[in-house]
Amino acid sequence: MSEKVRLATVWLDGCSGCHMSFLDMDERLFELADRVELVYSPIVDTKEFPRGVDVTLVEGAVSSAEDERRIYLIRERTKILVSFGDCAVTANVPSMRNPFGLDAVLQRAYIDNASLQAQVPRGEVPPLRPRALPVHNFVEVDVFMPGCPPSADIIHFALCELLDGRMPDFGARVRFG
Ligand code: SF4
Repeated sequence: MSEKVRLATVWLDGCSGCHMSFLDMDERLFELADRVELVYSPIVDTKEFPRGVDVTLVEGAVSSAEDERRIYLIRERTKILVSFGDCAVTANVPSMRNPFGLDAVLQRAYIDNASLQAQVPRGEVPPLRPRALPVHNFVEVDVFMPGCPPSADIIHFALCELLDGRMPDFGARVRFG
């Protein structure tokens, strides 16, 4: 590819650990910067998800109405969408609330555990969905990147494969190093 690849990273319902692992690529980020343009990410200042993105890494499960709105928009504007880490792939940690039901979770978080002004927020924050679900429950996913978080080596491997025009095979990576 002669032109730089337009890369985005997105943070839905995750702990940001996957993004921390992205930053753990350390000096390899300089090599990547020669080949990609980071057009949207929690670590850059762009406010609106742009059109014409080549690759998007999505961290986190879809847990709120706002996550759901964003993932449809991101899919529409992205060529290769990567479920980035176990929360995106399986809903992982965010899904731990699912067995209890939404009312019980809100009661516990905002009423039982509140020391001041106990009340469930209404309107100020995006409403939670009844269950936290993986990204592929909503949109087509092209690459599933495992790990909690994926290691910097795995992220680097995946990005290099995509930049070279190949779909990353994590099974091969695990078997053959
Ligand atoms: Fe955090 Fe692990 Fe989820 Fe990544 S996969 S957002 S590190 S809990």
